[in-house]
Amino acid sequence: MSIAGEPSFRESVDMMFKRATQLMDLGPGLEEKIRVCNSTYTVRFGVRLRGKIETFVGYRSVHSEHMEPVKGGIRYSLGVNQDEVEALAALMTYKCALVETPFGGSKGGLCIDPRKWDEHELEQITRRFAYELIKRDLINPAQNVPAPDMGTGEREMAWIADQYARMNTTDINAKACVTGKPPHAGGIQGRVEATGRGVQYALREFFRHGEDAAKAGLSGDLDGKRVIVQGLGNVGYHAAKFLAEEDGAKVIAIIERDGALVNDSGLDVEDVRQWMNRHGGLLAEYPKGQHIIDGAKALELPCDILIPAAMEGVINLSNAERIQAPLIIEAANGPITFGADEILRRKGCVIIPDMYANAGGVTVSYFEWVKNLSHIRFGRMQRRAEEARSRLLVEELERLSSDQHLGWQLGPDFKQKFLQGSDELALVRSGLDDTMRTAYQSMREVWHARQEVQDLRVAAYIVSIGRIAKTYQSKGL
Ligand code: GLU
Repeated sequence: MSIAGEPSFRESVDMMFKRATQLMDLGPGLEEKIRVCNSTYTVRFGVRLRGKIETFVGYRSVHSEHMEPVKGGIRYSLGVNQDEVEALAALMTYKCALVETPFGGSKGGLCIDPRKWDEHELEQITRRFAYELIKRDLINPAQNVPAPDMGTGEREMAWIADQYARMNTTDINAKACVTGKPPHAGGIQGRVEATGRGVQYALREFFRHGEDAAKAGLSGDLDGKRVIVQGLGNVGYHAAKFLAEEDGAKVIAIIERDGALVNDSGLDVEDVRQWMNRHGGLLAEYPKGQHIIDGAKALELPCDILIPAAMEGVINLSNAERIQAPLIIEAANGPITFGADEILRRKGCVIIPDMYANAGGVTVSYFEWVKNLSHIRFGRMQRRAEEARSRLLVEELERLSSDQHLGWQLGPDFKQKFLQGSDELALVRSGLDDTMRTAYQSMREVWHARQEVQDLRVAAYIVSIGRIAKTYQSKGL
């Protein structure tokens, strides 16, 4: 999206990058080397559909190969262009470094309206796009590993994995060529919910630090916090659902393509999503809330937490001044433009930046990639051993209690939970939670330690660029 008077998305990311590097002491030339995008491959290919040849334009941009493989999703949208994929690839580099997933940054996109084509047609298009990228090693388990992004999901990833396997019949690690696959095709439990889950874990960690919440004029935990979410796609839906159902937050507005739904006493996220599934993705007639046609207006309503989870540039120079949320968590990539970021900071708004906030997706992608390379499900070896040890302890406690007539009784709920070994989903959630906590702490340390670091975004860039710089230095560059 290009907004009047604003830099492009890629320029906006570069400007945010430079705000951070001004405060860093990088060797001569290193700042430039880290910032620039290494390469962008553009492909135009034809697919025979509905009796004629349709030509599609696709991109795969590699921002940084300081670590390989490079990682990042493939987006299907009519808004896809070179500037956008390059901005998104850069964000992937910084994101991966911040959450310590051992990847460089990449991104891909296909200029297409996925709703225009049926499943069989989309499969033909996807396989053809994948073919073009695979033959140039732009999809490869050791070099470049895509994942879902806006407009793509498990289905497309399964097609890509299959296409790669067909073209590389002896590659034993073929499944690791793409992540976000369905579990039956080599995926991992918890990948679909991962980005939304990561947003929840990020907010929980934020509120664990009263001092940080106080900077946004907030206190306590997530219970009762009034939330506005923009975009009820995969990320927004899971984030809003978990926050409401598990943390007691109140979702007072949901913004979608056809306007916003508002209900001050809280919306039932699952119910809204079910409604949208039944009504072609539309909210308008939903009975348990007020519908506002100009959805963007709902971004400006008073609330505690605003979650833009749709696309880039939605908070920009035209509306930033009117945003009332004291805390914004960027579940989408680049939802706040450089200019809007300045305005919001001046107003005292705390922003939990995209490269951290939505890193749950790539974190669980990392687990999936490791699973594919190790050819074994997480927990398969340990789970029952863990259960056997817990059972030993429970039985010993019960024996002691009865031998010594102590009358101890372990609660049935405790016993059931304690005796359960960790399966793959539990391990994925544990790894994700740990990642989100650790990354937040590394950001806040810089935020609080250095007076000139005034916000979490600059702190995030400093941590991330610092790590990338170290990798370059140890490579002798
Ligand atoms: N597309 C997601 C992102 O922007 C996930 C990338 C991945 O898992 O590689 O972070």
